[in-house]
Amino acid sequence: MRDSIAHRLRVEVDGTVQGVGFRPFVYRLARELELAGWISNKSDGLLIEVEGEAGAVETFLHRLETDAPASARVETLMTAVIPAQGGISFSICPSTGSGQRTLVIPPDLATCLDCRRELADPTDRRFRYPFLTCTQCGPRFSLLTAIPYDRPNTTMAGFGLCSACRTEYEDETDRRFHAEPIACPACGPHVILWDEEGRDVAGGDEALHKAAALIREGFIVAVKGLGGFQLWVDAGPEEAVQRLRSRKRRPDKPFALLFPSVESVRASCVLSPEEETFLRSPQAPIVLVRKRQEADLAEAVSPGNPYIGAMLPATPLHYLLMEDLQRPVVATSGNRSEEPIVIDEREALIRLKGIADAFLVHNRPIARPVDDSVIRVFPAGPEPKSKPKMNVVLLRRARGFVPQAIRLGENMRQGRTSDPVLAVGGHLKNTVAMLCGDRVVMSQHVGDLSTVEAVLAFRQVVDDLQRLLQVAPQTIACDRHPDYRSSVFARELAAALSVPLVPVQHHHAHVASCMAEHGIDGEVLGIAWDGAGYGLDGQIWGGEFLIASYEGFTRFAHLRPFRLPGGEAAMREPIRTAAALLWDIMGEEMPAHRLPRWKPPHNQQVQLAMLLRTGVASPWTTSMGRLFDGVASLTGLCHSASFEGQAAMAVEFAAERARQSGGDPAAGYSMDLRPGPSTAKGWVVDWRPMVSAIVDDLRVGSSAELIAARFHAGIVEVMLRVAREAGLERVILTGGCFQNAYLLRLAQHRLAEAGFTVYSHCLAPPNDGGLSLGQAVVAAHHADGPSI
Ligand SMILES: [Zn+2]
Ligand SMILES: [Zn+2]
Ligand SMILES: [Zn+2]
Repeated sequence: MRDSIAHRLRVEVDGTVQGVGFRPFVYRLARELELAGWISNKSDGLLIEVEGEAGAVETFLHRLETDAPASARVETLMTAVIPAQGGISFSICPSTGSGQRTLVIPPDLATCLDCRRELADPTDRRFRYPFLTCTQCGPRFSLLTAIPYDRPNTTMAGFGLCSACRTEYEDETDRRFHAEPIACPACGPHVILWDEEGRDVAGGDEALHKAAALIREGFIVAVKGLGGFQLWVDAGPEEAVQRLRSRKRRPDKPFALLFPSVESVRASCVLSPEEETFLRSPQAPIVLVRKRQEADLAEAVSPGNPYIGAMLPATPLHYLLMEDLQRPVVATSGNRSEEPIVIDEREALIRLKGIADAFLVHNRPIARPVDDSVIRVFPAGPEPKSKPKMNVVLLRRARGFVPQAIRLGENMRQGRTSDPVLAVGGHLKNTVAMLCGDRVVMSQHVGDLSTVEAVLAFRQVVDDLQRLLQVAPQTIACDRHPDYRSSVFARELAAALSVPLVPVQHHHAHVASCMAEHGIDGEVLGIAWDGAGYGLDGQIWGGEFLIASYEGFTRFAHLRPFRLPGGEAAMREPIRTAAALLWDIMGEEMPAHRLPRWKPPHNQQVQLAMLLRTGVASPWTTSMGRLFDGVASLTGLCHSASFEGQAAMAVEFAAERARQSGGDPAAGYSMDLRPGPSTAKGWVVDWRPMVSAIVDDLRVGSSAELIAARFHAGIVEVMLRVAREAGLERVILTGGCFQNAYLLRLAQHRLAEAGFTVYSHCLAPPNDGGLSLGQAVVAAHHADGPSI
């Protein structure tokens, strides 16, 4: 019996609190503190009522936040005192499920410490079992087939629980209470090793040992992981990694590495405490870290690149294999270049034929492909006190992060006729998003929509998002580029559903995406620098300064346009863009012009001059990414690129080398800021004085490192001048160019020093992977605001 001082509280907990072991945790806590009441799932969080002595209720509230399971994230905790009801027990109410729509679908989480202990304990019944999991960890999104998140709605539906597992599953005090994907060797999935033709080689533990042995011998093994197949090869021997490169037709783009432990990451890389925290986090992403010169890794892992993508095992299967291997391995997406990741073992035999020498597979189906996420962590520039000390940039948002909703600012929390909005993203690094009320759920990384397989995967992701969220879009948003496969699809879908289609300009979407994740609204100066986006005038934009709000934008300034001789070819061959820049400052002298590190074959130079003279097949662009390309080629850092961003990365790394070698910070090249042509408002950033200065520097033998540093300093100075002209306090830094840590830090530092409030990305990628979020919020405002 409770005495008269009993307090009863109603507590609403929002955030990542479903599917992370929160209910059993609350149950145990309430029992420990002798509180009565109950807990139940609600649409977007948990509802708790607790009753007991005032001090105990207070302790309960405190420990709800401090002792929560590691993977849980409490966003808001709302409490209200309600009349006491008496009672002596605490219970967990079953989820109602019926008609209750939830936006909270838990992401996949790395194996927790408790499970790892069991995995290594010979007396445990799940000793060395590659599929052990509990409420605190394991697959969720990658095996969810419908909502609510209950076992029949997962790909574990076909595995009946044995009596031992069932007891755990039904015991409210157990760590596996309602852990939907639990299994054990008696009732769960199993691994099997296939040869390259799909013939059984070994099963169980033997399959794991044999797979590890093959990798040690330099063979390529396709491993069915959590969200799809990965291709594994020993990261030590040069020829093994080269073989994977040539079979995958991926000549230069860096491979991610899986390490057995943090210690082994440290042996090969310089690791900051923050980077280590992310490596060990439940999201367990690939973290870009600086490679040690003495690292015992094949150069082919990340040729010419001072960074490598490192990750730690995230599943029991990965732990077991790495325990055997005890050395870093390449673990890259199981696909041919740029195709979506393979998730089905039969399909793997076909699509990875000729790449993998063996297949380590299992019989737990994967519901949808989910790639590994990629992040970069680095110190922010010296900033005003209130700003975070670290930048975390998500380069690829997938496993561990998706489908975590992004909460929008207060201004978005009203009913809108446009809601829900489906946004289909761009063309490269495609993602899809659904906006409902005050939240946006972004899909996992789909990839480049250049192949039939990728477009099919994209359509599946669109269907999937609607089905999982149980919503039908009332508005569809897409890029303004009429020929993007995503835009074509959006037009068809909008017509079929008879809902409005809102095409959103590419760079406006980039800016809105960054605003949305910071929950800000009103007018900002958006600096959107990337490789290419379709402009309002039909030209290729990419060096843009927009005065923007969710409702619309004006183009306040942009780079002086230059031609891309040969169009698409210029994107792969920066040597062409360099020719265009030189043509603009020296005209007919260009075909005979030679520079110390820029010497195209004479006939190519003549042919480029012809294209530039006539403009044939040579579209105009204002792209900052292409300006980086031009500088990369002029300085001899990169004349020809095999993946997007390669040339720009070479310029970044050169500037970084200049910084590390010490000396005075390089003075920036100056650029002119001119009023635009009379028909248009705004400013033009004229890069010609800079290119002339680069040519002069090359002639006197300046290093590529110095030129790269002066280039970065120059574009940041002109950024500052434009920001002063615009006169808005808030500045957004967005677009693929801001994956460049050197540029981002310098820009943040200079702008903050000059009194601007600077925003950059941390929840959505700055690259085109973030477009869907921006499209969604712009379209949500579209129905209520002026047209864009
Ligand atoms: Zn666990
Ligand atoms: Zn079992
Ligand atoms: Zn872009």
